[in-house]
Amino acid sequence: MRILSKNILGKENEEVELAGWVAGRRDHGKIIFIDLRDRGGVVQLVFTPKKQEVYDLANTLRSEWVIRVRGKVSARPGGMENDELPTGKLEIPVDHLEVITKAKTPPFAIDTDGREVSEDLRMTSRYLDLRRPRMQKNLRNRYKVIKFMRDYLTEGGFVEVETPVLGKSTPEGARDYLVPSRLHAGTFYALPQSPQQYKQLLMVAGLERYFQIARCFRDEDTRGDRQPEFTQLDIEMSFVDQNDVMDLIEDLYLKLVKELYPEKKIRLDKNGRIPRMPYKEAMVKYGSDKPDVRDNKNDPDELAFLFVVDFPAFEWKETEKRWDAVHHPFTQPQVKDTEEFWKAFKKDPASMLAKQYDFVLNGYEIGGGSIRIHDPELLSAVFEAMGNKPEDIKEKFGHMLTAFEYGVPPHGGIAPGIDRFVMLLENEPNIREVIAFPKTGDGRDLLMHAPSPVTEAQLKELHIKLREEKQK
Ligand code: ASP
Repeated sequence: MRILSKNILGKENEEVELAGWVAGRRDHGKIIFIDLRDRGGVVQLVFTPKKQEVYDLANTLRSEWVIRVRGKVSARPGGMENDELPTGKLEIPVDHLEVITKAKTPPFAIDTDGREVSEDLRMTSRYLDLRRPRMQKNLRNRYKVIKFMRDYLTEGGFVEVETPVLGKSTPEGARDYLVPSRLHAGTFYALPQSPQQYKQLLMVAGLERYFQIARCFRDEDTRGDRQPEFTQLDIEMSFVDQNDVMDLIEDLYLKLVKELYPEKKIRLDKNGRIPRMPYKEAMVKYGSDKPDVRDNKNDPDELAFLFVVDFPAFEWKETEKRWDAVHHPFTQPQVKDTEEFWKAFKKDPASMLAKQYDFVLNGYEIGGGSIRIHDPELLSAVFEAMGNKPEDIKEKFGHMLTAFEYGVPPHGGIAPGIDRFVMLLENEPNIREVIAFPKTGDGRDLLMHAPSPVTEAQLKELHIKLREEKQK
């Protein structure tokens, strides 16, 4: 049975079987040393002409070939130990060698951190790029972060529920990715910009505490660090106010960092809490709604979390000549009821505040959430204030308004992004370094070659005819 390289410790003089990739080769006179890499680390294999057949085969080995070996775990001769390797005091003189697959020479080095290689090239052969120790560490630590979140929330009575990817357009403010329906000619699903409406409907359904490691899709123009799809820790809770939601996130994130990244210095307020700062104060003091409040911005291990609260409810959208929700239209404005809402909105829409909170880390917005409107009358009023005609409201949000007529609990939630958080924890410069198969800035997958044309027959089935774009 194959064991991992790191598990040879304590097995001196035992015969073991190992399998993995050839990570390096050194020839010293007649002796061939091969570093064998598996998911547990690296171990040194030794081949000598004493076993001529095995030795001759070892002579053909090249980088990244996949091999299986058997041999007795042995102590390295004195002076030959490598203190930097956990297995550095041992080696395996090989008795049996099997070449499982050969490999071409990789197009770039994979034993470096990869920062010297062009990103396009790395993405084109991402499966090789991911072999480098830095990327292995990023993916494994990302998983640890997600697992911690899952365990913590499960312990707290939350249920993970999957919501549809084929859904209806939601007003999260970005452009939707659309999927044409074959069975219903001329109609489209939208990929979720977030599971916002579904999670609220789960509150109507009585789940009370929901979470999901949710994929979100937003068709936005290229801007630095964005990806067409990204991952959120999506949360919704019933019978809570905004402090309950922030308290939960605070406890989760502080425990997570202390457990998984004990070397990090977390900047807290004098009560040992994550500070909560009104939007207005953030704008006046820092000129930003996501201020970087670190003491020393050059210290990569300092984490300064912050909640920004009391955002304005509405902002003027000049292109569409209407008021729009700063977060999304389901967010509860800081008013008592519909009557007070209209009074305040007619007087000065810009000065109305919302029960919205953003979660900020080192100057990055890493999440946002709000307490939701659960009064269907107020929800309709907000849609109307945002310039929707009654028939549009019915068409776009009728299902929510109807659901809210059947006993809706007060509820609220938040959705911290996973990609950015892991990027900051790992001191990486962009989120592509912590995503297994990211897309380029202009939304291309260089490995699988997406997006790509489809056949005429596929289009026909989908009732789609491509238009010739007019030359400008
Ligand atoms: N759906 C929101 C977002 O993606 C988060 C929330 O309000 O819970 O930003």
